[in-house]
Amino acid sequence: TVRVRIAPSPTGNLHIGTARTAVFNWLFAHHHHGKFILRVEDTDQERSRQEYTDNIQSGLAWLGLTWDEGPFFQTQRLALYRQGIQTLLDKGFAYRCYCTPEELEQMREAQKAKNQAPRYDNRHRHLTEEQRQAFEAEGRKPVIRFIIDDDREIVWHDLIRGKMTWKGSDLGGDMVIARVADDPDQPFGQPLYNLAVVVDDMDMKITHVIRGEDHIANTAKQILLYEALGETVPEFAHTPLILNQEGRKLSKRDGVTSIDDFRKMGFLPEALANYMTLLGWTAPDSTQEIFTLTEAAQQFSLERVNKAGAKFDWDKLDWINSQYLHKMSGTELVDLLVPYWQEAGYPINVDSDRPWLEKMATLIGPSLTRLSDAAKESVLLFGETVDYSEEAIAQMKQEGVKELLQAVLDKIEVSSQLTEDEAKDTIKQVTKPLK
Ligand code: GLU
Repeated sequence: TVRVRIAPSPTGNLHIGTARTAVFNWLFAHHHHGKFILRVEDTDQERSRQEYTDNIQSGLAWLGLTWDEGPFFQTQRLALYRQGIQTLLDKGFAYRCYCTPEELEQMREAQKAKNQAPRYDNRHRHLTEEQRQAFEAEGRKPVIRFIIDDDREIVWHDLIRGKMTWKGSDLGGDMVIARVADDPDQPFGQPLYNLAVVVDDMDMKITHVIRGEDHIANTAKQILLYEALGETVPEFAHTPLILNQEGRKLSKRDGVTSIDDFRKMGFLPEALANYMTLLGWTAPDSTQEIFTLTEAAQQFSLERVNKAGAKFDWDKLDWINSQYLHKMSGTELVDLLVPYWQEAGYPINVDSDRPWLEKMATLIGPSLTRLSDAAKESVLLFGETVDYSEEAIAQMKQEGVKELLQAVLDKIEVSSQLTEDEAKDTIKQVTKPLK
């Protein structure tokens, strides 16, 4: 069975890029009746925070991206990574490197002077036992490096991007998989990202790794780790980046990027999730743009995900949001609108005014694009004073307008219950002689 995962690092609030990756994984899992797993990659203890872990979980749940297994936390799985590292050492795929930060710095300086890309030159790959003991005697503490052959050609068939080829020599030399031990009783220190991901994906029996294209170089390294650990390599699919208006990667500088921000701006979770399915994917019927996650999952395939970056389109998001809002009844809408009315300072009592508030929600529902439009759309009903536009005032002051309005009012006053059609008719009747 298909098993996929979303593996966020809790170093910030749930980001639109991570959420979109989660959407694609969720759709893929549901399409294949597989499992969607949540794994929190919290090994970077300096940057990870509990509040971000909470935010990520509540954001995924809000969007309807429920997970079947987890959350798993990498910090609770360190023993497993240690085992993986030990296996690689035992099999001779990894070794202890005693280079000091100063030595590494000198290496980089020398490479820079020769206009070469920075890389580790693998100088401790073949230390003799005496050399090692001499370093230990000096009190040096090793990192663990995984051997990456320069001559290796790494090839995989990416389910979105097709055939991918990577050269071992482009991976920066033998890679660090464990830091220096802080604890003198441990043979090595903190396991690093690529190693932990591979050990976890193996242990969780992940069949398809679907993640952002910024991880392509990691994939090349991870394939080597799978091979060394004697494990079959999963399928990989690298999703296109989300781009801003200028066609550059969407980043914090573009303002709104966290799912919380979108929520506060008045987007519905169903609409935002729907919009994210279209950030890089097109349905087989390319005219269909409105679907629930479950409907999208039935049609979802990685073959229909674009290679090119997906431009973030606010107009389209607004349009989708309004489609969802306009389908909702006053009863469904009212609780969602109350916070925006309250924020605008309108004097409402949620309990006693409820029937009336529901009518109001029914009335303004069709004019909303975002929930946050509630305040301005109901100003006539709540507001004590109304701000007229200059233009409207000028029109009112034109000759004859006052009489016309009075005529409409006279007619309306005698009708017992005014429907929209009746009101339109009345206005037509009054204005007809003018045309
Ligand atoms: N923790 C990684 C990230 O947040 C996930 C990488 C992966 O999916 O393998 O970018």
